[in-house]
Amino acid sequence: MKGNPIYEKVEIVAASSEGKSLARIDNVVVFVNNAVPGDVVDVKIMRKHRRFLEGTAIHFHTLSKDRVEPVCAHFGTCGGCKWQSLNYATQLKYKQQQVHDALVRIGKLEVPEFQPIMGPTEVYNYRNRLDFGFSDKKWLTIEEIQSGVQIDDRSGLGFHISGAFDKVLDLKECHLQGEFSESVRKFVREYTRKKNYPYFNIRDQHGLMRSLIIRTSSTGETMVIVQFFDDNKEQIEDVMRAIHSEFPNITSLLYIINQKGNDTYFDLPVHVYAGRDHMFEAMEGLKFRIGPKSFYQTNSAQAYELYKVTREFAGLTGNEVVYDLYTGTGTIAQFVSSKAKKVIGVELVPSAIADAKENAGLNGIANCSFFASDMKDIFNASFMNEHGKPDVIITDPPRAGMHEDVCTAIRDSGAKRIVYVSCNPASQARDLAILSPHYTITKVQPVDMFPQTHHVENVVQLDVRL
Ligand code: SAH
Repeated sequence: MKGNPIYEKVEIVAASSEGKSLARIDNVVVFVNNAVPGDVVDVKIMRKHRRFLEGTAIHFHTLSKDRVEPVCAHFGTCGGCKWQSLNYATQLKYKQQQVHDALVRIGKLEVPEFQPIMGPTEVYNYRNRLDFGFSDKKWLTIEEIQSGVQIDDRSGLGFHISGAFDKVLDLKECHLQGEFSESVRKFVREYTRKKNYPYFNIRDQHGLMRSLIIRTSSTGETMVIVQFFDDNKEQIEDVMRAIHSEFPNITSLLYIINQKGNDTYFDLPVHVYAGRDHMFEAMEGLKFRIGPKSFYQTNSAQAYELYKVTREFAGLTGNEVVYDLYTGTGTIAQFVSSKAKKVIGVELVPSAIADAKENAGLNGIANCSFFASDMKDIFNASFMNEHGKPDVIITDPPRAGMHEDVCTAIRDSGAKRIVYVSCNPASQARDLAILSPHYTITKVQPVDMFPQTHHVENVVQLDVRL
């Protein structure tokens, strides 16, 4: 195959992972960008791999009946909402399919029954957190390049473009977080441009404005964190004063001076400009204190649904010793604690464990204990002997799934039930295969936490084989 051949009138037959679609040409699988199942398109092949091809739809002959007009002006350029051009019912269908494929078709696991995926009531403006980056080299859209107009001001505030780490898409709108977030971002953008404050240049590491983080909570509280690169006290004060006077109701207005090579700020002091250094999230009578460095599930409403499924799958009666692995800030542990004898939460990040302990104290929960460690170094037979033989293990690892040693420790734990919450059905299927000699899958419940994206959360219940 030479160059970039074009195949005509190819039918897109399925949705695939990472928001791409799938077609077959002469029995070879092709992952196609820019198309949805049901489209008939001309595909330009961009890359050839040993077992599959990658291409882009360049001409449309038939548009899928499942298409809808994307809501956002940035659809196609922004990597955030790749499925906005599919109606929501179809998005759900493909998410369910993705879980089924990962577990049954690829993973060859035995699954008695898939419960229908749970969609949320809000399919837009569902996020409680967005992180925007400033850049003095905004991404130029195809329209801007084709217009031939010279663009002198290349400053932008928005999302990083995947594959171009130094560029951001300058956002006019985003439909993921709601009106408050939109107005804060627009104001900060306009104000700092008016003042000509330099935006960050990540390659050469200079500029004042580095990032803007906006967090909202179901209690109505708001947190705005501005990261600066230059330690220019006068300009920092000016930006913060402007935000404060425009939005006096922000409950936590914070800033950070970050002169490191990367945007993470776990190791940096956070300055309170106005209000408190934390806000609260509430769930079923529990309160969670959220500091600027704390993790919290980014879709609060669906997190509640996810946790309810998890608790129901755990089937607790009040007498069980429960382990909550990858506990984060201990939210699942606390959520199930009233139905358990005791809960042991384990998590890598020490500050998250500090939050977990503090929140449990705040909620008057006495039967949870929390440990900070890499899971593979701590979760073994002697740890379980020390803290109590598990009756139920809940596990909620990151996208990469669990370390093999953790899987075998769970497999050999003797727990009568496992509940595996995952944001990546592919790594989940791999881990479930390791558990399968001792555990059988009894229920599967996919949950949609992130409408308009291809991401899917999946909860699996397993019972010990007798
Ligand atoms: N259950 C939590 C968080 C799940 S996110 C909630 O619902 O909020 C996955 C968590 O796994 C993150 O908090 C991450 O810090 C943690 N983690 C990642 N790698 C880990 C490891 N090797 N050992 C222990 N925890 C890890």
